[in-house]
Amino acid sequence: MAIRGDSMSDEAIHILGAGLSGLAAATILAKAGRNVVVHEIRKDSGARFDGDFQGLENWTQSRDFFDEMREWGLDPDTFRSTDFKHMDLAHPDDTITVPRSQRLAFRIVERGTDKHCIDQGFKRMAIEAGAEIRYGSKVDPSTCTIIAAGPKKTSAVAFGEVFRTSHPDHVTFQLNDKLAPGAYSYLIVIQGVGLICTCLWRKQKQTNRYLNETIAWYERMYPDLDREPIKRVGGKGDFSIPASYYHDGKYYVGEAGGLQDFMWGFGMRYAVTSGVYAAQTIINGGGYEYDRRIRSTLLPSIRTSATNRLLMDRIGDRGFKRIATYWMKNQEKTGDGLLFMERLYKPGFARRMLWPITKRLLLRKVRLDDGRMARRMPFRRALKRDEWDMGERAREIAEEWKSVRSAGGHVSFGENDAE
Ligand SMILES: Cc1cc2nc3c(=O)[nH]c(=O)nc-3n(C[C@H](O)[C@H](O)[C@H](O)COP(=O)(O)OP(=O)(O)OC[C@H]3O[C@@H](n4cnc5c(N)ncnc54)[C@H](O)[C@@H]3O)c2cc1C
Repeated sequence: MAIRGDSMSDEAIHILGAGLSGLAAATILAKAGRNVVVHEIRKDSGARFDGDFQGLENWTQSRDFFDEMREWGLDPDTFRSTDFKHMDLAHPDDTITVPRSQRLAFRIVERGTDKHCIDQGFKRMAIEAGAEIRYGSKVDPSTCTIIAAGPKKTSAVAFGEVFRTSHPDHVTFQLNDKLAPGAYSYLIVIQGVGLICTCLWRKQKQTNRYLNETIAWYERMYPDLDREPIKRVGGKGDFSIPASYYHDGKYYVGEAGGLQDFMWGFGMRYAVTSGVYAAQTIINGGGYEYDRRIRSTLLPSIRTSATNRLLMDRIGDRGFKRIATYWMKNQEKTGDGLLFMERLYKPGFARRMLWPITKRLLLRKVRLDDGRMARRMPFRRALKRDEWDMGERAREIAEEWKSVRSAGGHVSFGENDAE
C-alpha cells in the first residue's frame, strides 16, 4: 500500500523518525493544516539518548537560534535550556582560559525521554499542532516523504559519564588530541548533574579507556567536582555530503541527510533547521527548492567545518594549542570570544580553495541505499600516537565504574555500537 504523499493537502505526509528534525517538520506541517503521521522505531522520542547534555550552538547563523525557532512557529520554552555566555577553555597543555561574549554563545539542553528534555518538548509541539506519532512503528522508508531517521553509519563517537555533583552550573571545553583523538572533551554541570564526555574522531578499540583517563583529568583540574557516577551514555554521528538532499520525491533532513558539523558535531541546529525547511518547501509546493535552500544556507558552513576537520585531524596538540592561543588573542583584540567561533564556520577564500583537497583526503565516495551518491566521512583509523598506557587514577575509575555497573549503572552506548 502506498502511504506517501506531499502535494495533496488531504493526503497524509509520512515522516520516518520522531527525533528533532522529524518533529520540527511535523509541527510546521501540522500547523499548516496538513495531515501528518510520524513513524518512530523506538518507544519514545529521545530514547536514542539517555539523559545526556548537549549544546545548542549560536554561531553558524547570524541570528539567535531561539529567535529563529519562534519565527518559524516553534516554541523553545517547551523544554529546559540553560544559557551560557562563557565557558572554561582547557588548552592541551592544561592551561585554562575563559572565552566570553556579551551575547548568548550557546545553550545546554538535555536529550532523552524525561519531560524537560528537548526531544519531549518537540514531541509536545508536534502533538499539539495535530501530528500523529506512531511509536514502535517499523515502515518501509520508501513509503515516507521526509526521511528523518538520524545517523546510520559512524563518522565519530561521543562517550560520557553522567554523575551527581554539588558543583555549580558549568561548562569546560577541552582541546586535547590524547584524551579525545582528533577532537575534544567536555564537562557540563546543570542543576547538580554532571557529564564528562570524550569525543573520538579516530576509531579506537577501547572507548572506556579514553573516558576513564578524561574523567581523571577533570578530577585533577576541578577538585571540588565530588562525582557520584550514575550511568554511561553516548552515541555515534554520521557526517556526509550527498549529491542531493531531495531525491525521488523524498526530503532528507537532519543526520539522515548527513547534515552535521564535521568539526565538532553540533548537529541539533542543522537537524531542526532542515526539518523546518523541508516542511516549508512542501507547504509551498514542494520539490528541489529544499535542495537549493540547504545548499545556500547550511552547506557552506558544513563544508567549511569539513575542511576544518581535515586540519584538526592532522595537527595534534601543538596545533590545538595554537588554535586556543589564537582564540584568546582574538578575544583580547575584539572583546568578543564568540567572533572566533563565527569565523571558524565562515567559508572564507582559503577554506574554499582547500575544498578539493578536503574532498579527496577526508571524504569517501559512496552509493547510498536509495541510489544517491554521497561523500561520507569514514570513521578514521587510529594513529600511532593514540596508543598510550592508562594512568593509575584512570585504572581506579575503571574499577569504580565496574562496581557502579554491577549495582545497576546503565550503559546506553557500547564499544561495539559504532560500525
Ligand atoms: C553523544 C552525542 C552527543 C552530541 N552532542 C551534541 C551537541 O552537544 N550539540 C549538537 O548540536 N549536537 C550534538 N550531537 C548531535 C545531535 O544529537 C544530532 O545531530 C541530532 O540529534 C540529529 O537529529 P536527527 O533528527 O537527525 O536525529 P535524531 O534526533 O537522532 O532522531 C532520529 C530518530 O529516528 C529514529 N529512527 C531511526 N531509524 C528509524 C527507522 N528505520 N524508522 C523509524 N524511526 C527511526 C530514531 O530512533 C530517532 O528517534 C550529539 C550526538 C551524540 C550521539
